Amino acid sequence: TPLTIAIDGPSGSGKSTVARAVAERLGVGYLDTGAMYRALTWWCLERGTDLADVAAVAQAARTLPLDLGTDPGEVRVTVDGTDVTAAIRTTEVSTAVSAVATNREVRPVLQQRQRDLMASIAQRTGGVVAEGRDITTVVAPDARVRVLLTASEEARLRRRSTELHGDADASSLEATRDQVVRRDRDDSTVSRFDEAAEGVTLVDTSDLSLEGSIEAVLDVVAG
Ligand code: C5P
Repeated sequence: TPLTIAIDGPSGSGKSTVARAVAERLGVGYLDTGAMYRALTWWCLERGTDLADVAAVAQAARTLPLDLGTDPGEVRVTVDGTDVTAAIRTTEVSTAVSAVATNREVRPVLQQRQRDLMASIAQRTGGVVAEGRDITTVVAPDARVRVLLTASEEARLRRRSTELHGDADASSLEATRDQVVRRDRDDSTVSRFDEAAEGVTLVDTSDLSLEGSIEAVLDVVAG
């Protein structure tokens, strides 16, 4: 049976970097489900779709011409032939994505696409590492390995700040705080990260280096 690995966690938990590294070391494909919500958000903004129009955004989710790279070494995201790899990481998209992710008609559409993608990646590469917010609980509760990566708010702020500003001095931390705290609050309607669901292994990365976090997840995989 294919090695399916589900990793959930809040922003700044180190989830994306860890998930990609784990996929690379195991030689399996990678699925970034957050990139799907981001790509959909980018497409709606691009086409002028009102994000508050639940049915219109859900229709966009059904027809989104998305091509999502699954090579953990180089993830490219393309929408309708346009490379949006960088565009989906802008503040504009990061701010708007919660409105799309909390749309009740959108979630089941993307969740089903995620299940289909996980199956096809696993078939092609012998396994898959899928990361997001609801992979261990809703998208793939039957995954062979399920991990919830957490980190203290302080550790997550420090990492996000370094990612966005290149450092974690006082002013960079302050500039990051609003974004992290707001997205946490918005995402808390999607899932909670203070407690692991049954059968899900909690890995706290607050005091772990990147290499330590990768090894902790590989340990869970090894059982
Ligand atoms: O993982 P990333 O921070 O790129 O995800 C962007 C946003 O997409 C999250 O803030 C969340 O609102 C949404 N998301 C989600 N469910 C997932 C993955 C991401 O709701 N499985």
